[in-house]
Amino acid sequence: MKVSEKTKNLKNLIGENWTTSSTGQTFVVTNPADSRMELGICQQSNEQDVFEAVEVAKKALKTWKKEAAPERGQYILRAAAYIEERVDEFINQLILEVGKSYADAKAEVIRTIRAMRYLAGEAERLTGETIPSWDKEVIGYTKREAIGVVGIITPWNVPLAIAAWKIATALSCGCTVIFKPSSQTPIVSSWLVEAYRETGLPAGVINFVTGPGSSVGNAIANHPDIKAISFTGSNGVGVAINQLVAKRGARFQAEMGGKNPFVVLEDADLDLATDHAIAGGFGESGQRCTATSRIIVLRSIAEEFIALLKQKVENLNVGNPIEEGTQMGPVIDEGSMKSILDYIEIAKKENGVLVTGGKRLTEGDYAHGYFVAPTVFRNITPDMTIAQEEIFGPVISVMIAEDFEQAMEWANNVEYGLSSTIYTNDLEKSMQFINNIEAGFTHVNMPSTYSEPQFPFGGIKGTGIGGYREVGSTAIDFYTEYKTVYIKPHGNK
Ligand code: NAD
Repeated sequence: MKVSEKTKNLKNLIGENWTTSSTGQTFVVTNPADSRMELGICQQSNEQDVFEAVEVAKKALKTWKKEAAPERGQYILRAAAYIEERVDEFINQLILEVGKSYADAKAEVIRTIRAMRYLAGEAERLTGETIPSWDKEVIGYTKREAIGVVGIITPWNVPLAIAAWKIATALSCGCTVIFKPSSQTPIVSSWLVEAYRETGLPAGVINFVTGPGSSVGNAIANHPDIKAISFTGSNGVGVAINQLVAKRGARFQAEMGGKNPFVVLEDADLDLATDHAIAGGFGESGQRCTATSRIIVLRSIAEEFIALLKQKVENLNVGNPIEEGTQMGPVIDEGSMKSILDYIEIAKKENGVLVTGGKRLTEGDYAHGYFVAPTVFRNITPDMTIAQEEIFGPVISVMIAEDFEQAMEWANNVEYGLSSTIYTNDLEKSMQFINNIEAGFTHVNMPSTYSEPQFPFGGIKGTGIGGYREVGSTAIDFYTEYKTVYIKPHGNK
């Protein structure tokens, strides 16, 4: 595993050229498993860089939206093939930049390729409707048209797949793009842009600008010529951008945090449930919007479940993910680590009972990284802070409910509504859960983190703004507008 030579000095892409920022300033990206390892130097851009990118994107839009839509899909397919030919390099970069385990990094790259292929096909499915008219001479139909230049703002935890599916949908629909990745993980995001460059994508269709949310992100939110902004990230930032975008009447889509429930009933297969609790709670060090953060288990099986969970968690191989066999790596940076450790202290003060973990790991290989032990609390009740707030780290709260009704009530008793899951073979209870859970997607006997790109993805309640969904066949709704057409072929009647 080594740092890739090609990204030591990362530039913005504005139109045809990789360029430096007008600020002349840069920032450094480091490896969260070993903060001494510098991975690249990136452009600390500002508003001026966004303004230039928008001018170029507006110009490119004029021809890009008029391309035959299936032709646009071909660029996406070629970019997916480029990534597929370099799967190992992309996996390596995700391991170094985000601290993902090999399995989690590989899963993200595969998901990226699948999403791009699926969404390339949307270019062939940009359909409207033919609608009968009261006038027998009239032919009436609707067609979809690109909304225009779009802004895409992404988080650090899924820096390849989320950018890939937003960009692929935008391109299929004929939009041109200003893409701002997270400053924690901009390198692998730039590789996605590079993949498109290699396809011969016309200049200006994708523009890439790195830098702080407060300047680059803010300029995207405020720019009058950016007609829609697709954002994934935290609630605080999403709500703030929404206010700016709403003021100028542009379209906004936000996918934000989660506090996903994992309900375990009496008849559950506890071996399966504990395996999936670990995959959902500690995969990617718990830094997923769909992470299993609240396990709600019925009292009759709680002790057996907790004992098995503890035993498995304590056998997890936590370490630098460049080492083979590592199951859980570091968290993304010092700020995140401190925030997670603060939540652990709050849980202790609020009488949560620590089952395992609960501390930073600092010895030996952990010394230069941001490692938090996989942590399980029990006896958590819905009023406690860690039962309500997104921790975004390797911390699972076990809540012991008296019966299914209480489990259901607790499952919904949060401001978020992204993912959810229930473990049972009771069909009636499964259906009650499916029909009553307040979440954008749900599962039975499957991890809360499971999703596939041909299915819609997104949250309700405090998780989502805009009511749109990403991926799946409805993803194109956000990037298109309908035009209604009435035609009277015999103009002289
Ligand atoms: P974040 O909100 O800090 O940052 C997200 C992006 O917004 C980054 O590119 C950042 O630079 C930018 N940004 C920051 N301030 C901005 C501003 N004022 N104006 C415009 N842009 C600004 O989130 P993060 O820490 O990168 O990601 C973690 C969060 O993302 C978690 O809450 C997680 O649940 C959420 N997430 C949600 C989903 C989902 O699909 N629901 C998926 C992944 C992550």
